[in-house]
Amino acid sequence: MIAVIGTTVLAVQLYRAEVLLSAGHEGRPASCRRFPKHPCNLGAAGERAWTPIVVDEAVRVLRANGISVIRRPADFAGRYAVGAAAFIHFDGADKPCTSAASVGYSQASDAAAAARWRALYGRYWPFGFMPDNFTPGLRHYYAYRQVHAAEGSFVIEFGELTCPAQHAWLAAHLRLEGDVLAAFLAELIGKGPLRLSANSPRYGLHSRSGARP
Ligand SMILES: [Zn+2]
Repeated sequence: MIAVIGTTVLAVQLYRAEVLLSAGHEGRPASCRRFPKHPCNLGAAGERAWTPIVVDEAVRVLRANGISVIRRPADFAGRYAVGAAAFIHFDGADKPCTSAASVGYSQASDAAAAARWRALYGRYWPFGFMPDNFTPGLRHYYAYRQVHAAEGSFVIEFGELTCPAQHAWLAAHLRLEGDVLAAFLAELIGKGPLRLSANSPRYGLHSRSGARP
């Protein structure tokens, strides 16, 4: 992609893949200096350690199923044309246990896919969901502008880390979270359903067994 600004021609790298995954807050604060227009938000306590675990698991499963993935930290350059994109987070709340899992997106056309995510993750996740786009950050996430995702682009918050019960469940199910995310994204781009039983034998996507804490 070429952007012409006055007489200066800037070549902006365009990357393509079936899926883009970004681990929220990963690489900060070191990356903040290079991306001064991004909020240098370091996330809820423990969030920066967990988003890469969930993303890496989802990337592993997707690639094992022959799906091409671009994996990024919180801040990254370039522009992207992908089938689906997800920016992975956990929430924090000033008053513990007043939040839950949630989904964000910038286009109304992504609402149906967001509902499918809630239905899928909700088979396992026992603490419910906040309304879609319940914070400005969910609707106006900085990275949406860089990524064109034909089948949907989402901020996914897996739960509230400041709530002890949610934190405990999330800690015990980080791999499941990545596996369910991979299954959702594969379905979204028409490459599902994935067989996940080899990776998460207790958490087949068509069974609730073992999903409760
Ligand atoms: Zn976050």
